[in-house]
Amino acid sequence: MGKSIAVFNQKGGVGKTTTAVNLAAGLAQLGRKVLLIDNDPQGNLTSGVGVDKYNVDYSIYEVLINNVPITSAIVQTQFDNLSILPGSVDLAGAEIEIIELENRETLLKRCLSEIKSDFDYLIIDCPPSLGMLTINALVAVDSVIIPIQCEYYALEGVSQLLNTFNLIKQSINPEIEIQGVLLSMFDGRTNLSIQVVEEVKKHFRDLVYSTIIPRNIRLAEAPSFGLPIMHYDSKSKGAIAYMDLAEEFMELEELRYE
Ligand code: ADP
Ligand code: MG
Repeated sequence: MGKSIAVFNQKGGVGKTTTAVNLAAGLAQLGRKVLLIDNDPQGNLTSGVGVDKYNVDYSIYEVLINNVPITSAIVQTQFDNLSILPGSVDLAGAEIEIIELENRETLLKRCLSEIKSDFDYLIIDCPPSLGMLTINALVAVDSVIIPIQCEYYALEGVSQLLNTFNLIKQSINPEIEIQGVLLSMFDGRTNLSIQVVEEVKKHFRDLVYSTIIPRNIRLAEAPSFGLPIMHYDSKSKGAIAYMDLAEEFMELEELRYE
């Protein structure tokens, strides 16, 4: 049975989509079968792996709202071991449409259950909000990765995020865990970045990955070419960091199930 993980933080611009794409591509490169799920109306995850969201048969929207089978919507990317359930701008309206539906919190969970055993990892990119799409992701997954940007107010919003997480854990998904907290956009030249790392480690302790993602321009460039960082510039600091993250992730997974 595959493990499902949401990349979750209601703040925008903290590195969720970048982490979803590049962790998934790293795991795929390590030989794991990975499905990406673009659960953000912006659809940046989809274009980030070179899939044209305007040119797919079906997107996550039709799967959630119109009962299109998820197997009809999943697309194999040009990269080995890496598939995607494409996103769609229509998803913006889904926030509201979902509220009208029965079992509105478990739509995504039920869709994923059909294909969970076909993959080793299912990685869901979340929108920058705590609306129904994010709730659906939290209900569907086994765990979350929380990226935190090494910036002013890094921990702002974290208690709100943990409240939502705990609410879901206490009510509808008691098994959900924090897979890890990822420090992103680290700039070693600034004291601020170093202070944020200390602060986040004090707060989340051993949940924080030892791999820290540096600020690296190649990471910002890669999506416009539709390439994960390892396929855009495999020698860049960003590529090395996300490969390290994939390896650390796998090591911790192996310890977890020993
Ligand atoms: P989110 O999905 O949380 O909104 P993104 O992953 O889209 O955040 O990142 C926000 C912006 O910052 C994007 O333009 C992305 O390319 C860029 N970015 C993300 N991580 C890095 C990094 N480590 N170094 C440089 N730019 C980054
Ligand atoms: Mg995003």
